[in-house]
Formats: sequence, C-alpha cells, structure tokens
Amino acid sequence: MQSETSRYQNFWGDVITKTKGFCTVLTKDDKLVMCRVKKSMYRQDERAKQLVVGDKVLVRFSEQDKQGLIVEIATRKSIFQRGSAKDGPPRTMGANLDLVGIVLSVKQPDFKVNLLFRFLLAANLGKVKPLVIINKVDLASKLEIDKVLTIIKSADLSYLLHSIDSHSSLLKLKACFKGKRVLLVGLSGVGKTSLLNHLFPVLNLKTGEINLKISKGRHITTLARMMCLENDYQIIDTPGIKEFKPYVLNKNLIGQEFSPFSRFIGDCRIKDCQHLTEPVCGVKEAILAGKLLAEIHQSYQNIWETS
Ligand code: GDP
Ligand code: ZN
Repeated sequence: MQSETSRYQNFWGDVITKTKGFCTVLTKDDKLVMCRVKKSMYRQDERAKQLVVGDKVLVRFSEQDKQGLIVEIATRKSIFQRGSAKDGPPRTMGANLDLVGIVLSVKQPDFKVNLLFRFLLAANLGKVKPLVIINKVDLASKLEIDKVLTIIKSADLSYLLHSIDSHSSLLKLKACFKGKRVLLVGLSGVGKTSLLNHLFPVLNLKTGEINLKISKGRHITTLARMMCLENDYQIIDTPGIKEFKPYVLNKNLIGQEFSPFSRFIGDCRIKDCQHLTEPVCGVKEAILAGKLLAEIHQSYQNIWETS
C-alpha cells in the first residue's frame, strides 16, 4: 500500500493560465500542472477567488489524479489592476510583475493622454515599473511625435519609440524585456499583437486570439495567460481593451502615488495634498514654473474626478 507522502508531492510554481474552473501552474523544472484551488482556501484567503496569472502558489500534486490542488498563495510583490464598471471589485490582470509595457500608438488610434496616465497610475499603485511604448511612429510626422514626447518627458517616464519596420527599436525592446515578467496593456488596434509577433515570431498570434491547446487536444478559452519564451522572457498579453480605469481603493492615495508628481510633492504644505485646491502646492508651483506640463495635471484631475 502506498503511503500518504508518496501519493502527494508539494511544490511551488507560477500560475501561467487561468480559466474559470482551473489554472495551469508551471513548476521550477518546467512541468505544466493542471490545478484547482482547494475549497477551504476560498474562506481563508480573499485572493483565492481572484487567483491571477503570475501568482506564486503552493501545489499539492496527486500522483493518482495527475492534478494539483492549490493550498497557498504567496504574497504578491506587485500587481496591475483595473477597476470594473459600477464600482465593483477590481480586476487583477497580473501579479508579481517586473514591468508594464504601456502600448500607445501615435496614430490609428490617436495618442490618448488621459489613457496613458490611467495606465500609469495603475502601475504606480500596483508597484510595477512602467515602460511607455509609443507605437506606429511610421504613421506620424516628426512634429506629431515630438508633441507626444514632450508629455512623456515632462512626466519623467521611460519610453521607447517603435514601429513594425524598425529592427533597432525591436532589439531595444527585447533588451528591456529580457529576464523580466512583463505585462502588456493597450487599446485594441495599437499594434500590440503585431509587436509580439515581431518580437517572437514563434507565437504567430492573431488579434484577440487567447486560445490555448491543452492536453487531449481540447481547446479552452483562457482569461489570461503568461507566455514563457526563449527561457528568458515571460510575457503576459492582455486582450485588447476599449477603455481603462485604474482600480483606486483609497482616493486619497492618488496624489501621493501618481509618479509624474513625485519630484514636486515635497514642496506641498499639507501632508496628504491632492494638488487640487490646497494652498502652497508643489505640483501647482512646478506647473507655474514651467517644470511640469499643465496637460498632465488635467489628466490627473480627470482620473481624480472619475475615481
Ligand atoms: P492590437 O489590436 O493592438 O493587437 O493590434 P494589431 O497588432 O492587430 O494591429 C492593428 C493594425 O495596425 C493592423 O492592421 C496592423 O497591421 C497595424 N500595425 C501594427 N503595427 C504597426 C506599425 O508599427 N505601423 C503601422 N503603420 N501599422 C501597424
Ligand atoms: Zn500638492
């Protein structure tokens, strides 16, 4: 008769796909294990209901069923969350991320300043480093690109200009992604899929296609997935979206977390200054002194009013 210990194995792994009923966990020795969440976990840990791609989990694997049971979720180092309509719970798009690639096109669709800062705030609140990828630069004039760059530089953001026909920016992008877990976000049509195919031709992705073939040839539609490529890259692609709102749990934190303001908030008189109507505000002084674009403050105000 087999002992308890030989029938079960415990190991830590990363959630790489997530569907409603179950998820796939990648082990340290590159094995894929289908897992369900242990029922009692739903009572013990809020995150069990919202397990996400990138979560580090402890799996109890049954040799007999060839299935795993998730019994613990490690503390998340970082997350990227969006708010849901009608003030519902947040939707977490990935956990334990090193970088968020915020993809925006200069044209087709037009560059959207408010959207850039909405994505940015979500990265700031979730403690993920942002990289702004300005895509489709082949479609825009130098003047149009410079206008976008003025905003990005004023906000003190890391960025990269890219278009499908540029080999040099592709190499730079790949270097930025190497050894990191990267979540890519962007509106439908900004060229996220083309960019991924360009970076990793083996993917051969079609727009909006988030299907994955799993054992026995069955197709499942995953809500999200992490692609592990060339040993050194972990990319989480998110379905193209039409709009984005960051998840804001505590509105009073926005003013302190919004990174374009961080250089100036030391000069605000009030500790939790929201940089709106308060007297002696470092952010508003920076705008008056020409150190920060008023447009960035307008986007901030827009987020504040809609959060
Ligand atoms: P997604 O919805 O963000 O995944 O966008 P796609 O990758 O499907 O691209 C949307 C459209 O933009 C397609 O017709 C692409 O051929 C086109 N496209 C993508 N990247 C570029 C680019 O760098 N320059 C130009 N001119 N078109 C691009
Ligand atoms: Zn202030």
